[in-house]
Amino acid sequence: MVIYPVCSSSKGNCIYIKSKETAILVDVGISFKALINSLSLAGLSEKNIKAIFITHEHSDHVSGLYSATKFLGVPVYSSKETLKALIIKDLIFKGTKLYEIDKKIANIFNLSVGAFRVFHDSADGVRFKIFDGEKKFSVCTDVGMPTVQLIETLKDSDFVLLESNYDVEMLKKGRYPFMLKKRIASSFGHLSNYDAAKVIDALIEKGVKKFLLGHLSQNNNLPQIALKTVVSYLLEKGKKFNEDYFLYVAPVRSIGKVFEI
Ligand SMILES: [Zn+2]
Ligand SMILES: [Zn+2]
Repeated sequence: MVIYPVCSSSKGNCIYIKSKETAILVDVGISFKALINSLSLAGLSEKNIKAIFITHEHSDHVSGLYSATKFLGVPVYSSKETLKALIIKDLIFKGTKLYEIDKKIANIFNLSVGAFRVFHDSADGVRFKIFDGEKKFSVCTDVGMPTVQLIETLKDSDFVLLESNYDVEMLKKGRYPFMLKKRIASSFGHLSNYDAAKVIDALIEKGVKKFLLGHLSQNNNLPQIALKTVVSYLLEKGKKFNEDYFLYVAPVRSIGKVFEI
Protein backbone atom coordinates (compact mmCIF):
# COMPACT_ATOMS: atom_id res chain seq x y z
CA MET A 1 0.00 0.00 0.00
CA VAL A 2 1.24 3.47 -0.85
CA ILE A 3 0.24 6.31 1.46
CA TYR A 4 0.61 9.88 0.35
CA PRO A 5 -0.36 12.53 2.91
CA VAL A 6 -1.28 15.27 0.42
CA CYS A 7 -1.81 17.72 3.26
CA SER A 8 -2.08 17.40 7.02
CA SER A 9 -2.57 20.27 9.47
CA SER A 10 -5.27 22.25 11.23
CA LYS A 11 -5.74 24.09 7.90
CA GLY A 12 -6.26 21.13 5.56
CA ASN A 13 -6.28 17.33 5.50
CA CYS A 14 -6.25 14.89 2.61
CA ILE A 15 -4.64 11.45 2.35
CA TYR A 16 -4.25 9.49 -0.87
CA ILE A 17 -4.03 5.72 -0.43
CA LYS A 18 -3.14 3.44 -3.31
CA SER A 19 -3.11 -0.33 -3.60
CA LYS A 20 -2.15 -2.43 -6.62
CA GLU A 21 -5.69 -2.21 -7.98
CA THR A 22 -7.15 1.09 -6.85
CA ALA A 23 -6.83 4.33 -4.90
CA ILE A 24 -9.00 6.22 -2.45
CA LEU A 25 -8.94 9.56 -0.67
CA VAL A 26 -9.53 10.10 3.00
CA ASP A 27 -10.82 13.69 3.34
CA VAL A 28 -10.46 16.48 0.82
CA GLY A 29 -9.38 19.55 2.77
CA ILE A 30 -7.54 21.00 -0.21
CA SER A 31 -8.61 22.58 -3.50
CA PHE A 32 -8.98 20.14 -6.39
CA LYS A 33 -6.32 21.98 -8.38
CA ALA A 34 -3.80 21.80 -5.52
CA LEU A 35 -4.65 18.10 -5.07
CA ILE A 36 -3.87 17.34 -8.72
CA ASN A 37 -0.61 19.30 -8.52
CA SER A 38 0.46 17.54 -5.34
CA LEU A 39 -0.36 14.10 -6.76
CA SER A 40 1.66 14.77 -9.91
CA LEU A 41 4.70 15.73 -7.76
CA ALA A 42 4.59 12.19 -6.37
CA GLY A 43 3.98 10.60 -9.78
CA LEU A 44 0.43 9.70 -8.79
CA SER A 45 -2.79 10.22 -10.66
CA GLU A 46 -6.29 11.30 -9.68
CA LYS A 47 -7.59 8.88 -12.32
CA ASN A 48 -7.05 5.90 -9.99
CA ILE A 49 -9.28 7.36 -7.27
CA LYS A 50 -12.40 5.24 -6.97
CA ALA A 51 -13.93 6.55 -3.75
CA ILE A 52 -13.71 9.35 -1.20
CA PHE A 53 -14.00 8.68 2.53
CA ILE A 54 -14.88 11.61 4.77
CA THR A 55 -14.08 11.60 8.49
CA HIS A 56 -16.26 14.57 9.46
CA GLU A 57 -17.69 17.81 8.13
CA HIS A 58 -15.18 20.33 9.55
CA SER A 59 -13.87 22.58 6.77
CA ASP A 60 -10.23 21.48 7.09
CA HIS A 61 -11.43 18.04 5.88
CA VAL A 62 -13.95 18.94 3.20
CA SER A 63 -13.04 22.31 1.66
CA GLY A 64 -12.28 20.68 -1.71
CA LEU A 65 -14.97 18.01 -1.59
CA TYR A 66 -17.45 19.74 -3.88
CA SER A 67 -15.02 20.06 -6.80
CA ALA A 68 -13.50 16.62 -6.14
CA THR A 69 -16.93 14.98 -6.40
CA LYS A 70 -17.76 17.10 -9.44
CA PHE A 71 -14.60 16.28 -11.39
CA LEU A 72 -13.89 12.74 -10.21
CA GLY A 73 -17.53 11.53 -10.18
CA VAL A 74 -16.76 8.94 -7.48
CA PRO A 75 -18.89 7.94 -4.48
CA VAL A 76 -18.52 9.40 -1.00
CA TYR A 77 -18.52 7.23 2.13
CA SER A 78 -19.11 8.43 5.67
CA SER A 79 -21.52 8.11 8.58
CA LYS A 80 -25.20 8.88 8.04
CA GLU A 81 -25.04 12.08 10.13
CA THR A 82 -21.86 13.33 8.43
CA LEU A 83 -23.36 12.77 4.98
CA LYS A 84 -26.46 14.66 6.10
CA ALA A 85 -24.30 17.57 7.34
CA LEU A 86 -22.37 17.65 4.06
CA ILE A 87 -25.60 17.81 2.04
CA ILE A 88 -27.06 20.58 4.21
CA LYS A 89 -23.88 22.62 3.76
CA ASP A 90 -23.99 21.94 0.00
CA LEU A 91 -20.50 20.43 0.01
CA ILE A 92 -21.16 17.52 -2.36
CA PHE A 93 -21.84 17.77 -6.10
CA LYS A 94 -25.44 16.85 -6.94
CA GLY A 95 -25.89 13.28 -8.15
CA THR A 96 -22.84 11.94 -6.27
CA LYS A 97 -23.45 8.45 -4.92
CA LEU A 98 -23.41 8.42 -1.11
CA TYR A 99 -22.81 5.40 1.08
CA GLU A 100 -23.18 5.08 4.83
CA ILE A 101 -20.23 3.23 6.22
CA ASP A 102 -21.33 3.15 9.87
CA LYS A 103 -21.07 -0.51 10.87
CA LYS A 104 -20.25 -2.06 7.50
CA ILE A 105 -16.89 -2.56 5.84
CA ALA A 106 -16.66 -0.82 2.46
CA ASN A 107 -14.86 -2.77 -0.26
CA ILE A 108 -13.21 -0.78 -3.05
CA PHE A 109 -11.55 -3.41 -5.26
CA ASN A 110 -8.96 -4.99 -2.92
CA LEU A 111 -9.17 -2.26 -0.28
CA SER A 112 -11.42 -2.86 2.74
CA VAL A 113 -12.25 0.21 4.76
CA GLY A 114 -13.69 0.00 8.26
CA ALA A 115 -14.91 2.91 10.37
CA PHE A 116 -14.46 3.62 14.05
CA ARG A 117 -15.49 6.46 16.30
CA VAL A 118 -13.60 8.90 18.49
CA PHE A 119 -14.60 11.83 20.69
CA HIS A 120 -14.76 15.01 18.61
CA ASP A 121 -17.22 17.88 18.25
CA SER A 122 -18.74 17.09 14.86
CA ALA A 123 -22.11 15.60 13.76
CA ASP A 124 -20.99 11.97 14.05
CA GLY A 125 -17.46 11.62 12.73
CA VAL A 126 -15.76 8.38 11.79
CA ARG A 127 -12.08 7.52 11.42
CA PHE A 128 -10.84 4.79 9.13
CA LYS A 129 -8.79 1.61 9.08
CA ILE A 130 -7.76 0.51 5.59
CA PHE A 131 -6.70 -3.04 4.75
CA ASP A 132 -5.27 -4.17 1.39
CA GLY A 133 -5.21 -7.89 2.22
CA GLU A 134 -1.70 -7.65 3.67
CA LYS A 135 -1.26 -4.43 5.64
CA LYS A 136 -3.45 -2.15 7.72
CA PHE A 137 -3.24 1.64 7.77
CA SER A 138 -5.24 3.71 10.25
CA VAL A 139 -6.16 7.36 9.95
CA CYS A 140 -6.80 8.83 13.38
CA THR A 141 -6.91 12.62 13.63
CA ASP A 142 -9.31 15.03 15.37
CA VAL A 143 -9.45 13.00 18.55
CA GLY A 144 -10.69 14.59 21.77
CA MET A 145 -8.96 12.19 24.11
CA PRO A 146 -7.01 8.96 24.10
CA THR A 147 -9.07 6.03 25.36
CA VAL A 148 -8.54 2.33 26.00
CA GLN A 149 -11.01 1.65 23.19
CA LEU A 150 -8.88 3.71 20.78
CA ILE A 151 -5.78 1.63 21.59
CA GLU A 152 -7.79 -1.57 21.06
CA THR A 153 -8.98 -0.31 17.68
CA LEU A 154 -5.53 0.70 16.47
CA LYS A 155 -3.43 -2.10 17.93
CA ASP A 156 -3.34 -4.33 14.83
CA SER A 157 -2.30 -1.50 12.47
CA ASP A 158 0.97 -1.62 10.50
CA PHE A 159 1.05 2.17 10.20
CA VAL A 160 -0.90 4.81 12.10
CA LEU A 161 -1.44 8.42 11.12
CA LEU A 162 -2.05 9.92 14.54
CA GLU A 163 -3.01 13.44 15.47
CA SER A 164 -0.39 15.47 17.36
CA ASN A 165 -2.23 18.76 17.23
CA TYR A 166 -0.72 21.12 19.78
CA ASP A 167 2.08 21.76 22.19
CA VAL A 168 0.55 22.36 25.62
CA GLU A 169 2.73 25.41 26.40
CA MET A 170 2.31 27.00 22.96
CA LEU A 171 -1.47 26.69 23.23
CA LYS A 172 -1.46 28.11 26.75
CA LYS A 173 0.71 31.11 25.83
CA GLY A 174 -0.71 31.60 22.33
CA ARG A 175 -3.09 34.28 21.11
CA TYR A 176 -6.21 32.13 20.68
CA PRO A 177 -9.30 33.33 22.59
CA PHE A 178 -9.92 31.50 25.86
CA MET A 179 -12.98 29.61 24.55
CA LEU A 180 -11.09 28.30 21.53
CA LYS A 181 -8.17 27.17 23.72
CA LYS A 182 -10.68 25.41 25.94
CA ARG A 183 -12.33 23.69 22.97
CA ILE A 184 -9.02 22.46 21.51
CA ALA A 185 -7.83 21.00 24.82
CA SER A 186 -11.26 19.54 25.71
CA SER A 187 -12.21 15.88 25.42
CA PHE A 188 -14.05 16.74 22.18
CA GLY A 189 -11.18 18.71 20.66
CA HIS A 190 -7.70 17.56 19.69
CA LEU A 191 -4.76 15.48 20.92
CA SER A 192 -1.68 17.29 22.24
CA ASN A 193 1.84 16.10 21.45
CA TYR A 194 1.89 14.61 24.93
CA ASP A 195 -1.39 12.74 24.33
CA ALA A 196 0.01 11.40 21.05
CA ALA A 197 3.11 10.19 22.89
CA LYS A 198 0.95 8.28 25.37
CA VAL A 199 -1.07 6.65 22.57
CA ILE A 200 2.10 5.68 20.70
CA ASP A 201 3.65 4.26 23.85
CA ALA A 202 0.59 2.05 24.41
CA LEU A 203 0.54 0.98 20.76
CA ILE A 204 4.25 0.05 20.74
CA GLU A 205 3.46 -2.19 23.72
CA LYS A 206 0.85 -3.89 21.50
CA GLY A 207 3.31 -4.35 18.64
CA VAL A 208 2.68 -1.35 16.36
CA LYS A 209 5.95 0.05 15.02
CA LYS A 210 5.33 2.75 12.46
CA PHE A 211 3.70 6.14 13.08
CA LEU A 212 3.06 9.35 11.24
CA LEU A 213 2.24 12.41 13.34
CA GLY A 214 -0.31 14.60 11.60
CA HIS A 215 -2.87 17.38 11.86
CA LEU A 216 -0.32 19.68 13.56
CA SER A 217 -1.69 23.09 14.45
CA GLN A 218 -0.05 25.82 12.42
CA ASN A 219 -0.32 28.21 15.38
CA ASN A 220 0.25 26.03 18.42
CA ASN A 221 2.83 23.49 17.29
CA LEU A 222 5.99 22.91 15.29
CA PRO A 223 7.15 19.65 13.67
CA GLN A 224 10.41 19.59 15.68
CA ILE A 225 8.55 20.18 18.96
CA ALA A 226 6.00 17.42 18.23
CA LEU A 227 8.77 15.00 17.32
CA LYS A 228 10.91 15.92 20.35
CA THR A 229 7.99 15.60 22.80
CA VAL A 230 7.06 12.14 21.54
CA VAL A 231 10.65 10.83 21.23
CA SER A 232 11.61 12.11 24.73
CA TYR A 233 8.50 10.61 26.31
CA LEU A 234 9.16 7.25 24.68
CA LEU A 235 12.82 7.31 25.66
CA GLU A 236 11.75 7.74 29.29
CA LYS A 237 9.73 4.58 28.78
CA GLY A 238 12.79 2.78 27.39
CA LYS A 239 11.72 2.89 23.74
CA LYS A 240 14.33 3.91 21.20
CA PHE A 241 13.60 6.01 18.10
CA ASN A 242 14.36 4.22 14.80
CA GLU A 243 14.92 1.00 16.69
CA ASP A 244 11.83 0.11 18.70
CA TYR A 245 9.63 2.26 16.49
CA PHE A 246 9.67 4.53 13.43
CA LEU A 247 8.16 7.99 13.58
CA TYR A 248 7.63 10.67 10.94
CA VAL A 249 5.85 14.00 10.82
CA ALA A 250 3.39 14.58 7.98
CA PRO A 251 4.17 17.81 6.11
CA VAL A 252 1.56 20.58 6.00
CA ARG A 253 1.68 20.14 2.19
CA SER A 254 3.45 17.18 0.60
CA ILE A 255 5.82 17.63 -2.26
CA GLY A 256 6.22 14.05 -3.33
CA LYS A 257 7.22 11.96 -0.32
CA VAL A 258 5.21 8.74 -0.17
CA PHE A 259 5.15 6.07 2.54
CA GLU A 260 5.03 2.44 1.58
CA ILE A 261 3.88 -0.37 3.85
ZN1 LIG B 1 -9.38 18.66 11.57
ZN1 LIG C 1 -12.38 18.42 13.32
